[in-house]
Amino acid sequence: MQTFLIVVAVIAVVWALAYHRAPAILWTIAGALAILLLTLFGGVTQVVVILACLLFAIVAVLLNPGPIRRAVVGVPLLGLFRRILPQVSQTEKEALDAGTVWWDGELFSGKPDWKKLHAYPKPTLTAEEQAFLDGPVERLCEMVNEWEITNDLHDLPPKAWQYIKDQGFLGMIIPKAYGGKGFSALMHSSVIMKLTTRSGTAAVSVMVPNSLGPAELLLHYGTKEQKDYYLPRLAQGLEMPCFALTSPEAGSDAGGIPDFGIVCRGEWQGKKDVLGIRLTWEKRYITLGPIATLLGLAFRLYDPDHLLSAEEDRGITLGLIPTDTSGVNIGRRHFPLNGAFMNGPNWGKDVFVPMDYVIGGVDYVGQGWKMLMNCLAAGRSISLPANGVGMSKLAARTTGAYGRVRTQFKISIGRFEGVEEAVARIGGNIYLMEAARTMTAGAVDLGEKPSVISAIAKYHLTERARQVINDAMDVHGGKGICMGPNNYLGRAYQQVPIAITVEGANILTRTMIIFGQGAIRGHPYVLKEIEATQEKDEAKALRDFDAAFFGHMAFAISNKARASWMGLTCSRFTAAPGDAHTRRYYQQLTRLSSAFAWAADISMFVLGGSLKRRERLSGRLGDILSQLYLASCVLKRYEDDGCPPDDLPLLNWAMQDALHKTQDAFYGLFENLPNRLIAWALRWTIFPWGRVFKAPGDALGNKVVNLMMTPGAARDRLTAGICIPRDENDPVTSLDMAMLAVIAAEPVEAKMRGAQREGRISGEFPDMLMQDAQTKGIISSAEVEILKRAKALRRKAIMVDDFPKDFGRSEMFQTTQAVTFESLRRAG
Ligand SMILES: Cc1cc2nc3c(=O)[nH]c(=O)nc-3n(C[C@H](O)[C@H](O)[C@H](O)COP(=O)(O)OP(=O)(O)OC[C@H]3O[C@@H](n4cnc5c(N)ncnc54)[C@H](O)[C@@H]3O)c2cc1C
Repeated sequence: MQTFLIVVAVIAVVWALAYHRAPAILWTIAGALAILLLTLFGGVTQVVVILACLLFAIVAVLLNPGPIRRAVVGVPLLGLFRRILPQVSQTEKEALDAGTVWWDGELFSGKPDWKKLHAYPKPTLTAEEQAFLDGPVERLCEMVNEWEITNDLHDLPPKAWQYIKDQGFLGMIIPKAYGGKGFSALMHSSVIMKLTTRSGTAAVSVMVPNSLGPAELLLHYGTKEQKDYYLPRLAQGLEMPCFALTSPEAGSDAGGIPDFGIVCRGEWQGKKDVLGIRLTWEKRYITLGPIATLLGLAFRLYDPDHLLSAEEDRGITLGLIPTDTSGVNIGRRHFPLNGAFMNGPNWGKDVFVPMDYVIGGVDYVGQGWKMLMNCLAAGRSISLPANGVGMSKLAARTTGAYGRVRTQFKISIGRFEGVEEAVARIGGNIYLMEAARTMTAGAVDLGEKPSVISAIAKYHLTERARQVINDAMDVHGGKGICMGPNNYLGRAYQQVPIAITVEGANILTRTMIIFGQGAIRGHPYVLKEIEATQEKDEAKALRDFDAAFFGHMAFAISNKARASWMGLTCSRFTAAPGDAHTRRYYQQLTRLSSAFAWAADISMFVLGGSLKRRERLSGRLGDILSQLYLASCVLKRYEDDGCPPDDLPLLNWAMQDALHKTQDAFYGLFENLPNRLIAWALRWTIFPWGRVFKAPGDALGNKVVNLMMTPGAARDRLTAGICIPRDENDPVTSLDMAMLAVIAAEPVEAKMRGAQREGRISGEFPDMLMQDAQTKGIISSAEVEILKRAKALRRKAIMVDDFPKDFGRSEMFQTTQAVTFESLRRAG
């Protein structure tokens, strides 16, 4: 019995030490104590004690760093790792090295420090930024009409373009010292979000010069001369930039671009023997390309005559080429899903440019991929997530209102349970999306370039936008389908795949980047292990490897102990912050973070380098990391907003959805890991009670829908930052007005229904009933006016556009002919 108790006590202590990540010395002391107890009270033979002491000695040597451990274990393991670790290409290495690790590192740690999350300052705009949003951005929103832009003009109106340039929209990221606005990432994101709610074309046209492109690259890598010349011109809109990376043969595999430059000497502006580059390229899909004056160009540079260095292949290099340079072909356009923003191909053959056209000059020759990846690490966090959130907020606001205003079977359609399901999804998604937008942009403002998080934000906010728009379209029925100036959703629906495709197409982002990069960058030990295997100084390599490898082992054991304990107890005893509404969520996230860290290590251990090719498994691990990040953003938002009780349905929906999706991703992993025994063991460690997280329930969904269909602070908070024009005839504004009018009419309608039931009034049509009720003094004339207003606005809200059978082409033809005839007549 005594021996049994000692064994139980030893297991408990080992578990506790592993759970709390005790240092090696504590483990050693605990081991020595265990042997002492066994010897004194265990009633075991001397042989057992000697064997236990031997075992202890071996474990103590392995636990504590020192020359013996390094020689006996470190040397062979280092050799093994050098043989089995997958070869990483230079472009992959540069992509992996790009950016910084932020909250993703905490989630990978298996023990997130929630105090750190709460200590990040609440992302906020300055007074100057807010004034720009309320002033020029609002004004630009009023100047653009997406229907007119996409259907008639196929471009922004000239006055809008001029306003964009004059007001500095193209220089939002350029510092004030160069004449730019010097806005924060949050502001940049807020501008794009608001513009998107009015015109996707305007949003993209403003987004591109402020994203990865000439200005951003010059800011980080330009020579002084390049910055002094170009940045003020870009800020004032005197130059129209574009950035050309994608080729017909190289889209996702942008590192494989066939476009090239040859270092040579040539004639430039009358001068002979100028050192320069002869460029040949063919690019496509280039946004703003057709109107660009300054072409940012990515190409591979070769130096066959060794004019720069002994190396022939210098790698990807970035240049800035004025589009009026002889030989540059630019100007035709593509037609991306009815979007009217400028986008097109460009090409050139043997175009000679001087060496100082290279961004950053000779020092940055061959550094192009690294430059792009570093900029993308931050930039991907901003524009496309903002675009997704913008269209989703517009969809949330209008769908809530439309669900209330539109009736069928004498009931607001939003009250039908089937419709509720879709509307609740919209509300919950947008609460989470806004939380992720602001927290991620806030990270960039803290100086981070969160490469993995930016991929998560790009992927999930554009994917959720797709779901939100689809749901909104379903709820709107034919109203969403018939195009025209009154359709506020149709263009967003058409254009949603654009954000899915650009800056890393989503399938690739999910299955290759999020976990692929996260596992190396976010994991506390993997990168250290890889770096140690590549270290040339053998003594240092061995020291670093020893520390990383044994640290990794301890980390994995700890995560196993933590995941199984928190799984068994449903993390009820896990220390966590938060209030009565959120504490359980913090506990669950801590549990799932440990489980994720454990599952990630096991997957890497079982699959090794092949995990890179097992994209479905890697995608599921990426989904777990992503959901943990998105859920963290939700909790942070709730805290930052001051824990408003009205938002609780949204918070609960978003958290329950994230936990449920995390669980689904775990089960997808368990069901598909090729080693079935390990998969089984993982499943029982992590979810000993099976699937415990439920998707958001119907009652919760109903609360979310009520919030979205009722005017008030919570609805306004949910859709804050969108453009609601002052023009009462604007379809979005008049829908909002219709909702208010319909709500005002509801008690009057109820009164009439009661009177009709009791037989006090009668009439075949609503108007007859109303008249009868007024005549009999059941409703007042003021109430009649309320009913009339609601009826008129409801009708306006549900109507769609119609056109002549030939869409007015014959009218246009007649008008053109009349104008031509008139001008000829005037001309005599
Ligand atoms: C409207 C628009 C604007 C654009 N603007 C610019 C611009 O200004 N400048 C610029 O340089 N480029 C621009 N692009 C190009 C954009 O970045 C590319 O379209 C994108 O990189 C994808 O390349 P692709 O279209 O050739 O698709 P492909 O590379 O052919 O990919 C097709 C599909 O295969 C998937 N896929 C590919 N490889 C993998 C993999 N290893 N694992 C999993 N899935 C994979 C992708 O996710 C995608 O779903 C723009 C594109 C569009 C449509």
